Amino acid sequence: MTQLIFATNNEHKVTEIQSLLPDNISVITLRQAGIDIDIPEPHDTLQENATEKAKTIFNITNQNCFSEDTGLEIEALQGAPGVHSARYAGEDRNFQANIDKVLTELNGIENRNAQFRTVICLIWDGIEHYFEGICRGHINNQDTGTSGFGYDPIFIPEGADKSFAEMSVEEKNIYSHRQKAVTQLFAFLNSL
Ligand code: IMP
Repeated sequence: MTQLIFATNNEHKVTEIQSLLPDNISVITLRQAGIDIDIPEPHDTLQENATEKAKTIFNITNQNCFSEDTGLEIEALQGAPGVHSARYAGEDRNFQANIDKVLTELNGIENRNAQFRTVICLIWDGIEHYFEGICRGHINNQDTGTSGFGYDPIFIPEGADKSFAEMSVEEKNIYSHRQKAVTQLFAFLNSL
């Protein structure tokens, strides 16, 4: 059995990743590992933030671990909110305020193309490995649905006719950026 610490405090991300786990890999959360810290995300790229989070936990535990950083990249906003997705409308990381800001900025704009991008940093035996998952789609004119988190209520993935927030975790996994990145992570672990 391969065991990894997932360097996040975001319970939604944990739920999504737990739902994808093969039988031979087990993931424990920071809380289960007895670690209570707010991990910094000070950088301008998803990759640097993912690295910082994984290294922070590796330095504390000396155990194999991974982290992920995700951003919503909107074409008409030149890739914003991107790496600043969590704090787009302010330091309190309020999901609804972030959604309202995006909808206001896209008001009257026809190009609604957007993508979620997830970068995973795995630290395995002290060495860093990276995996990326992208989910293309568009920003709806209004928020719909109550599942999931973050920008889920306004994001409709390519090939679907409803927002991520109107889907179960299993349905979101069919399309999601996180599922694509995690699938590569698990394939890598299984190839070792
Ligand atoms: P971080 O990777 O924790 O820095 O995530 C940044 C922000 O992006 C989160 O606070 C959410 O607002 C948003 N986000 C990340 N992943 C998702 C997702 O799967 N759906 C919707 N929003 C997401």
